[in-house]
Amino acid sequence: MKKELFANPDLCTGCNRCTIACSAKNEGVFQPSKARLRVTNFPLRGFSVPNVCFQCPKANCLEACPNDAMFRGADGVVRLNRDLCSGCGNCVNACPYGMVEQNAKGIPYKCDLCDGDPACVKECHAEALVHAAGDAALFQLKAAQMKTRPQSGTPLEKRHKVAQTIKRNSRG
Ligand code: SF4
Ligand code: SF4
Repeated sequence: MKKELFANPDLCTGCNRCTIACSAKNEGVFQPSKARLRVTNFPLRGFSVPNVCFQCPKANCLEACPNDAMFRGADGVVRLNRDLCSGCGNCVNACPYGMVEQNAKGIPYKCDLCDGDPACVKECHAEALVHAAGDAALFQLKAAQMKTRPQSGTPLEKRHKVAQTIKRNSRG
């Protein structure tokens, strides 16, 4: 059974070890703003939400690409073929969860689950990130997180809106 990435905000401490590990693995720098997942912190409430790509079954980022540069692999992961990408940014605008960003050269980047061995999960000592086949509880958690789909705003604004809803619906 294929593994997926699940995020549990109730366990997240907001330490950002995950984003540091991700940026180090994918970009060679310790820079959370370059990570493929993000953490939205609500410091006054002591609550943090890991924002992750859901590898959506119906992926807006993929459908919005006019060049078929976004594609889904046999493992279910949505990836980018840089050779086909024109840098139009449609995928960035299309993701309702703010999980595609463009680098300084206009090239989009998103989570590809580190080809099956996500660096973020290994660094999350709080076990707020899980890479597993999943059970009913995890799929329920993920489905609830996917319900808020902001259609406008920057990726940062969309992540914040999604995180706010997740926070409201959580124990935090
Ligand atoms: S980048 Fe966004 S739309 Fe594309 S699979 Fe991930 S969460 Fe879904
Ligand atoms: S490593 Fe885990 S606990 Fe720390 S911010 Fe990331 S998800 Fe939260």
